[in-house]
Amino acid sequence: MTKTFAIIAAAGSGTRFGGDKMTTPLCGTPVVVRTITAFQQSPLISGIIVAASENNRAAIETLCKIYSLDKVACVIQGGETRAETVQLALSHIPSETKLVAVQDGARPLVTAELIARVIAAAKEIGAALPVVPVRDTIKEISSNGIQTPNRDCLFAAQTPQVFDLAKYREIITNDAVSDDSTLFEQARLPVTTIDGDPRNIKITTADDLLTATAFLTGKTDSKLRIGHGYDAHRLVEGRRLVLCGVDVPFERGLLGHSDADAAFHAVTDALLGAAGLPDIGNIFPDHDPKWKDANSGDLLAFAAKMSRERGFTVMSADVTIIAERPKLSPFIPQMRGNLAAALGVSADCVNVKATTEEGLGFAERGISAHSVVLLTTQ
Ligand code: MG
Repeated sequence: MTKTFAIIAAAGSGTRFGGDKMTTPLCGTPVVVRTITAFQQSPLISGIIVAASENNRAAIETLCKIYSLDKVACVIQGGETRAETVQLALSHIPSETKLVAVQDGARPLVTAELIARVIAAAKEIGAALPVVPVRDTIKEISSNGIQTPNRDCLFAAQTPQVFDLAKYREIITNDAVSDDSTLFEQARLPVTTIDGDPRNIKITTADDLLTATAFLTGKTDSKLRIGHGYDAHRLVEGRRLVLCGVDVPFERGLLGHSDADAAFHAVTDALLGAAGLPDIGNIFPDHDPKWKDANSGDLLAFAAKMSRERGFTVMSADVTIIAERPKLSPFIPQMRGNLAAALGVSADCVNVKATTEEGLGFAERGISAHSVVLLTTQ
């Protein structure tokens, strides 16, 4: 099989977006993760180099670990310009690689099908890119006045753009070009175009994010799955009190085989329920020494990985902790951060609440938690 490496250009400044668009969630999953995942899932791609900015590199490295994007060979810091970024990335590609696919990190709706078609065309010609016809009439406005080019000849260039790596290495320069195939055109090397995908939009402004959200949620084959989880543990002396991964100072703690984090257990069961997986007791049996004193955040992260491997994305997770004492409100922000980190989503997709039972229930003797988790197949 022809070896093809992908370069994901994720170093853009995001000035027109008003923040780092790469790590912004799109239906619960960061934009750049969706982009990388399409290449991770393509059987034609043997490895991936991500070119990040100084500001988002650490965050993208963490995301690649959380989402098990194990085809990512490295996350490098990109250069000042697109050309410089691609040059830096090329130096990390193994010499036996035949083709290189250059992809905008901000095109999260790219599909494995489009990737396969561009690669097939590039194998034949040496350079290929997807294009879509422009919809508006284009006006060329300059000091010579206004001109109207024939719209039938005008197309918008998309990515991935796929090239013969040896030829690309020969011709790459620091010229400021807005896409990579321009270098092949300038070197008078053959370039071919294929039909692009109108939904393969580039996220440039906040409005583009709304459009992409509509494309994802409006897909007729998308499925929503909701799950509920409940857990309770007894309060005893001589144990830590751990709730949503936070060590809460208290004279008693929860009894259990693991760290007995009832809140994370409830979320884990809700997640497993939504994904149609066996419950927490089946996946992490309490007689298995492997889970003795386990960090329940690790169990939840493992369950989240299992649900992702089945094609699910977490849209939201909510948990209510029922405790008469201690007062939990000071710890809620940290709990919320821990929950988001374990699920691999941003904090605005999760919520943590605490309540008492006004002395009516068993809450002096233990702590319980209810949770709901919403998953989507997009
Ligand atoms: Mg439990």
